[in-house]
Amino acid sequence: MAEKERILELERANEELNRLDKLKSTFISSVSHELQTPLSVIKEFISLMLEGHAGPVTEDQRDYLGITNRNILRLTNLIETLVDFSRIESGKGLKLKFEPTSLIEVVQDASLTLSQQLEEKRISLENRIDPDTPPVLIDRNRMVEVFINLIGNGIKFTAPQGKVMIDSRGLTEKRDYLKVVVTDTGVGISPEDLSKIFDRFYQGQTTQTGVIAGTGLGLTITKEIIEGHQGDIHAESKLGSGSSFVFTLPVFGINTVLNLLITPMFEEAERDKMPFSLIRVDFWDSRTKQEFGLSHESWEAVMFALQKMVRSVDTIIPFKNNMVYISSFNDDKMTKEISERVQAKLIQGGYLPRGTEVQIRMYSYPINAGTKEEFLKGCRLLLKED
Ligand code: ADP
Repeated sequence: MAEKERILELERANEELNRLDKLKSTFISSVSHELQTPLSVIKEFISLMLEGHAGPVTEDQRDYLGITNRNILRLTNLIETLVDFSRIESGKGLKLKFEPTSLIEVVQDASLTLSQQLEEKRISLENRIDPDTPPVLIDRNRMVEVFINLIGNGIKFTAPQGKVMIDSRGLTEKRDYLKVVVTDTGVGISPEDLSKIFDRFYQGQTTQTGVIAGTGLGLTITKEIIEGHQGDIHAESKLGSGSSFVFTLPVFGINTVLNLLITPMFEEAERDKMPFSLIRVDFWDSRTKQEFGLSHESWEAVMFALQKMVRSVDTIIPFKNNMVYISSFNDDKMTKEISERVQAKLIQGGYLPRGTEVQIRMYSYPINAGTKEEFLKGCRLLLKED
């Protein structure tokens, strides 16, 4: 009897905890959204003042407004962290937009953002990513955020004049992911902390002394972003001798295009009982009948023209510099029409050098393939074919 009562009591306590946890999530979600509006108004008016719209600005006033602006930026970042966190908690997840991207540029963007912090602590940042590293298929802005988090932590937990390094450890076994490491020469992480640092709100021993501020959400969001790219992340460290954060990033190629772009879009179409099509566009030299490598400018123009033609649910992927694939929620008839429009637009629009031929191939579900497996296999072939 007593045992039954205790079980009941535990169940009740558990329910109460769940209720409070939900309440907390709702609170974070509504507060973070509510904070965004007044903050953007403040930002707007400070810009107006700085631009002199409220009369001439003295040097001192400019300095003070500058300080205000920097703190608004900090507040904006903090609120964005909370908004992201509540998206993750509610199961909505972060929306990612994958595109082929140069990793070295992402690292440069992140280090530019952190240049002041690096300078203040006289910490040197070594970007050892090989410039010949193949492009990765990532959400560029989100990945900059990942590097800002990891390098930022490296700066935070490393004594002045230390070092933060970014390295690549080559490809994974299947060769479709790149291993990347962010290492610092800082305080390191204790074995107890090591298993918990990716947990929400967790702050390690070093932070709890109150010396270093933070939210304990940086690594939670970082992990979510990496996992959204179907990669993984872990930390390696010994207390007192620095930390390494090792993670994997999808290399731009057939496998990752299929897994990250085509499959989820296809599944969404399938759920909504919509047709789905893939279009492949190739450029040929009409005289030599050879595949045509477009120049950078032509390429940009083509991408721009196509982007304007398709709906926002469609995706255009530049592939190997001379092909474009469009995944779309259209059936084969619509797709054929779109293909013809694309072809006409590209040929007549003056985007391509003279003598370029545009060849278009399509693959549609459910017309060309009856099952998901069959369709994805067909997509793989279409991507591969030369
Ligand atoms: P925050 O930095 O806001 O506290 P994070 O989620 O980014 O939150 O990090 C969680 C905890 O992991 C930190 O409080 C710290 O204890 C530990 N940690 C993260 N990065 C490092 C690092 N480079 N060196 C040592 N400890 C780290």
